[in-house]
Amino acid sequence: MSSQPPHPTVLIPGPIEFDDEVLQAMSTPSESHVGMPFVNIFGDTLTMLRRLFMTENPGSQPIVLSGSGTLGWDVVSANLVEPGDDVLVLHSGYFGDSFADCLATYGANPTQLKAPIGSRPSPEEIEKALSAKRYKMITVTHTDTSTGVLSDPREVAEIVRKVSPGTLVVVDGVCSVGCEEIRFDDWGLDVVLTASQKAIGAPAGLSIMMLSQRAVDTFKSRKVPPGSYFASLKNWLPIMQNYEAKKPSYFATPSPQLVRALNVSLKQILSRPLEERFEQHRVASRKVKDAVARLGLQQLAANPAHQANGMTAIWLPEGMTPADVLPHAAKLDVVFAGGLHREIATRYIRIGSMGVSVTNPKLGHIDKAIKALESGLMAAGYQIPWDIDVYNYMKVYGA
Ligand SMILES: *Cc1c(COP(=O)(O)O)cnc(C)c1O
Repeated sequence: MSSQPPHPTVLIPGPIEFDDEVLQAMSTPSESHVGMPFVNIFGDTLTMLRRLFMTENPGSQPIVLSGSGTLGWDVVSANLVEPGDDVLVLHSGYFGDSFADCLATYGANPTQLKAPIGSRPSPEEIEKALSAKRYKMITVTHTDTSTGVLSDPREVAEIVRKVSPGTLVVVDGVCSVGCEEIRFDDWGLDVVLTASQKAIGAPAGLSIMMLSQRAVDTFKSRKVPPGSYFASLKNWLPIMQNYEAKKPSYFATPSPQLVRALNVSLKQILSRPLEERFEQHRVASRKVKDAVARLGLQQLAANPAHQANGMTAIWLPEGMTPADVLPHAAKLDVVFAGGLHREIATRYIRIGSMGVSVTNPKLGHIDKAIKALESGLMAAGYQIPWDIDVYNYMKVYGA
């Protein structure tokens, strides 16, 4: 039995449901952030991140800061590009626009390569853009949480190596680290940034990153100092290196409670092969996506190869809005998310399938989500097209 009070099941694309042990790790007595018990925990946490991101290169640098995923954009923008540098932003939804905004805030010059809603830039388009101009950096949103579109950082990095090997490859993995395969070394990535509250399953409040040796060197050879104080790597690199070497040091107070929660969640994640975890997410997501098809509805990401495994974004039936459906799902104690992509926000909903809701089938969260989706739509007046119903009946019962 869960030690948490009864509460609606949160099945949005982050924050996600917590494991009891992860939550309990936070109700610890106060402690010094430079005392050895916490220094050891923080150090181990940083080392475990190397395994989560699949990097064995000693030059890779894990970073954990107090903040949300967005802070990762600031760290990248303030430290790895200089004013006037060109950056190619691959756009597969809302988060491309925001990353580009952040880059521009620090004086970089972002160019967005935009795909139609529900799609992602093609390899040919990426190659063409990279060949046309020298970019200091390329960014790719692994899962764009506004559209449920999955990109392919491995393919992007391959194209970069072929046509523009000096370009840094930055992955926004806020909605993918912990649920999608990411191989930092094998794929030749320079930055993967994420946050604690999505597939990692810890409370919101930590910005988590892995930098390559090349990214660190890029920072060290800057001509102008970073345009941020809190987000400056000059301040944080020595601190992270000290903590990992189990040496107390201080720049700004970390959150012992959040780091302890992250420590437990990483231990849980790494207690099983990562490949098994990715497969569990593929299976759970497939279940949701099959239910969507059974209901006669479409996903924003039309191409199955472009569909994320940690979430599903679903077009509502014509004329229906999230406000028609979500309150009915809430009556069944399930929280889904409305739309986020500005142009179409009132026309679709999003369902998260990450973390314990996926890895602990005893919780029954995915089945509960599917039931809530079905009854939410029906209560809002949707009728399942009969031919799809019959087709599905035959599939299930072999009639
Ligand atoms: C959630 C998310 C962010 C922003 O993270 P916050 O923790 O909300 O600041 C950035 N990128 C992607 C892909 C996300 O899903």
